[in-house]
Amino acid sequence: MSLRYGRPYLAIPGPSVIPDRVLQAMHQPAPNIYGGPLVDLVESVVRDLKAVARTRHKVAIYIANGHGGWEASLANVLARGDRVLVLATGRFGHGWAEAARAMGAEVEILDFGNRATVDLGRVEDRLRADTGHQIRAVLVSHVDTATSVRNDVAGVRAAMEAAGHPALLMADCIASLACDRFEMDAWGVDVMVAACQKGLMVPPGLAFVFLGPKAEEARARADLATPYWDWTPRANPQEFYQYFGGTAPTHHLYGLRAALDMLVHEEGLEAAWDRHARLARAIWAAIEAWGQGGPIALNMTDPALRSHAVTSVRIDPPHGTALREWLSETAGVTLGIGLGMAAPGDPAWHGFFRIGHMGHVNAHMILGALGTMEAGFKALGVAHGAGALEAAAGVIAGR
Ligand SMILES: *Cc1c(COP(=O)(O)O)cnc(C)c1O
Repeated sequence: MSLRYGRPYLAIPGPSVIPDRVLQAMHQPAPNIYGGPLVDLVESVVRDLKAVARTRHKVAIYIANGHGGWEASLANVLARGDRVLVLATGRFGHGWAEAARAMGAEVEILDFGNRATVDLGRVEDRLRADTGHQIRAVLVSHVDTATSVRNDVAGVRAAMEAAGHPALLMADCIASLACDRFEMDAWGVDVMVAACQKGLMVPPGLAFVFLGPKAEEARARADLATPYWDWTPRANPQEFYQYFGGTAPTHHLYGLRAALDMLVHEEGLEAAWDRHARLARAIWAAIEAWGQGGPIALNMTDPALRSHAVTSVRIDPPHGTALREWLSETAGVTLGIGLGMAAPGDPAWHGFFRIGHMGHVNAHMILGALGTMEAGFKALGVAHGAGALEAAAGVIAGR
């Protein structure tokens, strides 16, 4: 029997749940793109995006997903043959590195594996050894969505300063923006990449590249940007069309305006960070309780290194795949697949799953998802410890 006929919960780490208000805001006739309300709307969106990024500087908006944002960010600060240092803590660090390599950069990767954060001492040592300052940029994911690690971006800046190194600091906040605390200016980040379909609750289609003054200076010697990807007109538009290098993404902008109203003007950014933190702790408490009596564990053992937007879980194979399938077919909850933990085709691949808890997610959705996971363990005969839902409810209750 299927019990899934009701409102589904897409609990994958992006795209995230879209609020009805965002969908309704997008349900409008096409607007004039040469003047009128859309122009004011974009100005307000730019203002609020900068508030969410905690920056006083600039943003360039692209009609793209996160991968487009990655390439946009690199194209504007690198010249062919420039060296970048990538701090990889999961699949997404490697993804950004692959883009840089394909674009003609010399890419060096410090790989910290799938269960650890960046070792800041190693970063400092590597930068100190670069006496000729060949490394132009240090790339790091704030949250790596595959491992669900949250890296200390301010710590990376401190390591760069300790080494006296002038490279740009570039952060990928595609998973974390509006979920985990992030402070672009206070943490000394020069370039930050985000997209609209995770914490910002909008269907996929917009990428954001935030740029500080050092990044804007780097644009002068960069030579990888073709006209569409050049951030200069987008971040300093003289004419409205320059924001988007052509036709504005009209309906995405309506959706984004509604999402920013909810996030910035109603809930408040810091309250949203707190909500994500509390909901994440409820999930961790449940998984830890299940793990007391079964083959289930959080990928990141140290709570201080865990994302508040996504949780990566290990379970004996093939239970990961079986649980995901049971939840989607029987309970209307779709969990994320494991990413970068084992090769597809390897039986171990079925020993991972992820829970996306970013954006438009509240206590009853999280308790519901956890309750259906508990039902899935029972239905599938997967051993699991007792008390998981009580533990999660205790966290939600603030005890
Ligand atoms: C989702 C994600 C990406 C890729 O975004 P797409 O929109 O799928 O291209 C990159 N980095 C991180 C950290 C992500 O979570």
